[in-house]
Amino acid sequence: MQERELFAIFGNPVAHSLSPLMHNRAFSELGYPGCYGRYLLEEGERLREKFLALGLKGANITVPHKEHAFHACDELDDFARQVGAVNTICFKDGKLHGYNTDAPGFLRVVREMMPAGSVLFLGAGGTAQSSAVMLRDAGYEVTILNRSAPRLEYFLKEGFGAYTWEDFPGGAYDLVVNMSSAGLKDESLPAPEKLLRSILEKAGGAVDVIYGKKTPFLRLAQAMGIRTQDGRAMLLYQGVIAFDYFTQGRFEMPKIEEAMKGVFEL
Ligand code: NDP
Repeated sequence: MQERELFAIFGNPVAHSLSPLMHNRAFSELGYPGCYGRYLLEEGERLREKFLALGLKGANITVPHKEHAFHACDELDDFARQVGAVNTICFKDGKLHGYNTDAPGFLRVVREMMPAGSVLFLGAGGTAQSSAVMLRDAGYEVTILNRSAPRLEYFLKEGFGAYTWEDFPGGAYDLVVNMSSAGLKDESLPAPEKLLRSILEKAGGAVDVIYGKKTPFLRLAQAMGIRTQDGRAMLLYQGVIAFDYFTQGRFEMPKIEEAMKGVFEL
């Protein structure tokens, strides 16, 4: 019997992740000898050690270890190096190679909604950083609004308009995105309701990167009659790109997507 290649997702928490289901379904439907599990990692500094001890061929990394994953790699692709966050690692020729598939996954979500325009991010964490750079490089105009100032430094250095709730000048945006973890484990909005309403009433659409629940942000946008989308498409698209790295381009992307999509229809 052919030996199986092992893959895993590292995170904390990790129990909720749909990645094992998505990748195992694609392995099974495409006939690839892979097996994908989950690993609750508390100390991010130990990622490299755990990856090697488990004998993995590849891994995904979720909150809060994407920066640790960046430091754990021997080689980085240009984009991952630029944004400092890795969510996909492949073991090749004795080395850990790091990639970021969140940002291209999110870019595809936005492209499907509009070919050009302005985007306001609510939140300034790792996902916002990589996605802002990718969207800007693709021609979108990106502005950041965050609860507090420290995380805005990166964006200001990169030349983005970046504000806290206190100094936000307002404006009309084609798309408003909850890029924060507000609503992930609680029922909070990513900004004060009055401020959010004033932003959403001029917005063309609203996206939440959180998946698996209808967040207070999406509920508010829907109640205001705005077109909305949750984080499932981003999850699917980043997973398809990661799978392509794991299997080194062996399968056509639409076939990978078709197989993974089944998980969301269960
Ligand atoms: P980080 O921990 O790096 O950043 C969190 C951000 O959220 C910070 O800007 C923080 O503000 C803000 N924030 C947290 N709580 C609140 C709150 N109650 N009100 C307002 N702002 C808040 O997270 P990531 O960037 O890694 O992830 C962000 C989200 O993206 C998560 O929900 C994650 O699940 C989701 N995600 C979804 C993916 C998908 O495939 N659909 C892929 C990757 C991520 P401050 O700076 O003030 O602390």
